[in-house]
Amino acid sequence: LDPIGEPPEPLWRADKYAADNPDSPRINATLLVLVRNEELKDLLPTMRQLEEHWNHKFNYPWTFFNEVPFTDEFKRRTQDLTKAKCNYELIPKEHWATPDWISHELYEESTKILTENDVQYSTKESYHQMCRWNSGMFYHHPALKDTRYYWRVEPKVQFFCDIDYDVFRYMQDHNKTYGFNINLYDAPESIPSLWPETIKFLAAHPEYLHENNAMKWLVDSEARPEHNEKAHGYSTCHFWSNFEIADMEFWRSKAYEDYFNHLDRAGGFFYERWGDAPVHSIALGLFEDVSKIHWFKDIGYNHIPYYNCPNSPKCRGCKPGQFYAGEPWLQREDCRPNWFKYVGTG
Ligand code: GDP
Ligand code: MN
Repeated sequence: LDPIGEPPEPLWRADKYAADNPDSPRINATLLVLVRNEELKDLLPTMRQLEEHWNHKFNYPWTFFNEVPFTDEFKRRTQDLTKAKCNYELIPKEHWATPDWISHELYEESTKILTENDVQYSTKESYHQMCRWNSGMFYHHPALKDTRYYWRVEPKVQFFCDIDYDVFRYMQDHNKTYGFNINLYDAPESIPSLWPETIKFLAAHPEYLHENNAMKWLVDSEARPEHNEKAHGYSTCHFWSNFEIADMEFWRSKAYEDYFNHLDRAGGFFYERWGDAPVHSIALGLFEDVSKIHWFKDIGYNHIPYYNCPNSPKCRGCKPGQFYAGEPWLQREDCRPNWFKYVGTG
């Protein structure tokens, strides 16, 4: 594993893409933030960092989503940090509400068991709603109807490095679908039936499996076989989705839509605690060409408690190569080597 060093393709720094070239055409893209009014204080430093390191050169619009209206203070203080346009969008009830086929009794019962198994947040219904929205709803919001690429940002995350090229243009010009930053193992207890449901779906739709898929990565049991056992076949290794730079055309494809609807009906967003990270990762691993998935190793990033920290003079505030700040046992949660084993670091 070598998370260190400059990006491999100096070509994307050619004049055409240079940040100071006013003629460089902008891509159809937005910075995308699902956030609560109460999280404003945690969001401002994050926004300031991303503006300073990157977006003041490109001025991509920000789009904020919430299931309740944003306050005037929220709007004022976020817009104050950027020259770019800020959009404040309300999530429609039918995108956020727990679906009516979910039984409340069964939800209460099953989350009790999840809690006994130490699955974080399982009794918090809004957390389940958030995971479902991030899995299968956000890209259907009318405000994103004409938008193709997004960069997902959360309050409290940190960005450490100057980024002097247009990452959205990189995605488009290199025909990439999905960009990730950190790869982690998940808690198998949060997704016991996700892989079995996936296998059922695949049996009904073998045509969706891409010929250059990452199935071997999804089922790799070499490093932590106990995870595959508890998750019934899935290694739980996933792209950590609090960071995503991606093309919504993939989520809007028939394959993904059918897959999401299958999972949604199966109920695991509520009866278990399926995260959008394993759902996105499994779908990408099965239905997409692995060569369209890109590791943004040059974007220094932290979401507590993990880091991606390049060794570059463009970065400050993290230690080159560091993955965690706290207890060393966190190191074993890193599963990027699994990905590189099959796909490489390009
Ligand atoms: P974690 O990263 O898994 O610990 O989950 P977070 O608490 O960071 O939530 C993920 C993202 O969803 C963050 O951007 C939160 O601000 C946002 N979020 C989570 N729950 C809600 C909610 O109920 N309403 C809104 N509007 N945003 C939420
Ligand atoms: Mn978070």
